[in-house]
Amino acid sequence: MLMGISNNSTQCTLARPAVIAGPGLFHGVDCRVRLLPAAENTGIIFRRVDLASRPEIRAHVDYVVPGSRRTILAANGATVETVEHLLSALAGLRVDNCIVELSARELPALDGSSLPFCEAILEAGMNQQTALRRTVCIAELQRISEPANGQWIECIPSFTDDLVIDYLLDYGSESALPSQSWAVQVTPEMYLREIAAARTFVMAAEVEALQAAGYGRHLTGRDLVVFRADGTVVDNRLRWSNEPVRHKILDCIGDLALSGRNFMGRIVARRSGHKLNHVMAEFLSTIENSVKILSRAA
Ligand SMILES: [Zn+2]
Repeated sequence: MLMGISNNSTQCTLARPAVIAGPGLFHGVDCRVRLLPAAENTGIIFRRVDLASRPEIRAHVDYVVPGSRRTILAANGATVETVEHLLSALAGLRVDNCIVELSARELPALDGSSLPFCEAILEAGMNQQTALRRTVCIAELQRISEPANGQWIECIPSFTDDLVIDYLLDYGSESALPSQSWAVQVTPEMYLREIAAARTFVMAAEVEALQAAGYGRHLTGRDLVVFRADGTVVDNRLRWSNEPVRHKILDCIGDLALSGRNFMGRIVARRSGHKLNHVMAEFLSTIENSVKILSRAA
């Protein structure tokens, strides 16, 4: 398989620290996050400043540990949970290098979307760095699937200079959520305008089981989107009629960022969740080492 690296722009970090705080989605524990500028080729590093040794965890698929309905990383005796929305914001706005200091194990849920993270990043401003951003593309389709669940995700070669994600959300005819599909070219402008504000959603029938397991007991229908069996929303209004599929794309962007690569091409997914997204991130993370790399002009 031939792969290419497109050096079409340079890396980016924050111009100054950004601070954002709030309780986590699952555990409800207050967490203060500081996003700090970082040197070229740092990538995204989480640092638990509430622990004595201030352990660091690199945002990389190698450190993913099993977790239900969220992405959890663990290394150096520490974990960091529900990282996908912040990683999505950083990837969507093309921030390559950042130290993420946090005062608890779970990132703030905020409004269930990545928009508040984006606003904090934009308020801090961005610094263009001189090292080139390494961007990978592929020459052959790669498909990862879980046929038993009707889930799959593909990455498809494309000559675009952007990532395109085409997602089909389809939970079957019995679901309160009608199937919806959406495709978007993930430029920073499109990310901010069309993706970032899409919020986490859950079915009302699932809420009881989650809360019985000790998760999300602090949440109300105003903190995320809860769908009733008849498809209406509890104590809230959708920001777009297809907000759920937009949020699945938001999650996908965050999970694929764990590859440590900027993939240029097309991702097509059907019902893919964190688990399959992580397998695709793992594939993308290996591209550079396993194949012949071609230089590609900007
Ligand atoms: Zn999410």
